[in-house]
Formats: sequence, C-alpha cells, structure tokens
Amino acid sequence: MGEVGLRTVRDGQRVLRFQAAVIGAATSQRGSSPRWSELVVYRMVDGHYLISKIGRSTVAHQPTCLRVNHRMVPWSKAAAFGEDSVQRVPCPDCRPELGHGIAPDTMLEVTRYRAILCQTAESAAESLMGDRAALLMPQIVQTVLAQCSESDPNFSRYAEADTALPRAWENTTRTP
Ligand SMILES: [Zn+2]
Repeated sequence: MGEVGLRTVRDGQRVLRFQAAVIGAATSQRGSSPRWSELVVYRMVDGHYLISKIGRSTVAHQPTCLRVNHRMVPWSKAAAFGEDSVQRVPCPDCRPELGHGIAPDTMLEVTRYRAILCQTAESAAESLMGDRAALLMPQIVQTVLAQCSESDPNFSRYAEADTALPRAWENTTRTP
C-alpha cells in the first residue's frame, strides 16, 4: 500500500480510472457467509480521497421468492452484468436447484459498487463512519480508518478506533 498507480474503480455502471495510492483496504468477508462488504480508500494525486464501497452477494433465488427485488438479475443475463463467474449459493428460504446447471430465470443478488469522492480526510472519515458512534462502528470501518491513519497523518485523529486498547496496554507494561 501507499504507492501511486493507475486505479480502476466502479461507481454503479460507471468505470473510473485515476492515479492514486491505496491508503486503506478491508473486507468483512468471514468464513462462508454469502454476503460481505469491501472498502478501499484512495488518496488521489491532487490530495482528494476516493472511497470505493463494494457490496457482494453470492445468493441465488427462485423467481417466486419473496426476497427477489428489482436490483437482481436473472441467470440468463448474468454474463452481461459480469455475475456469471460467481460461485452461487442457494437462498435458504426458496432453495433453488443450483447443482446441475442453473435455470435461466434463477434470480441473482448482484455486486453493488459505489464510489464517493471526498475533498478532505475529515469528509472521507465521516463518509466511512456514517452517523455511528465509535463503539458501534463495524470492524471493517475501524480497520480501514486505522490503516488510513498509519499511511496519512490527516487521518491520525481516527487511529484510536482500532488501536486504543492495545496501545494503552503496551504503554502500561513498558512503564519502568
Ligand atoms: Zn430466495
């Protein structure tokens, strides 16, 4: 992390390309959970920040499932949306058959891409934290903010989210 390079980030259907350094990146993916988030914070060469928020899901539904919504795409159009290479898991409610070929009308939860341009570290941190108090921040946000604070002094005030306890403990034990 930290080196400037050409980056490609999606925002909905748009593809953004720009020169930037990655100063924070984390995922909430744990075990075999079929839905997770990915966060990346870029520092652009002009000093602004760009946050990439990606929501992933591998869940597939029968077309009649009550969980199906307008954002999902049928398997017959999966390739056009770049969703055909994702290993799918069946919704536990409607249990579509996925083992022997996928029916064309099977509905797929899709990857959601958002990119947020922020003028300052403060606005980037606010965008990451939302309205939540520090103790309620998801681990992925705490991790990203801690990484940003190590790479960029403009984020230093957000370092304590992830590291306050270990540092306090270290300081105590090192006291002569
Ligand atoms: Zn379902």
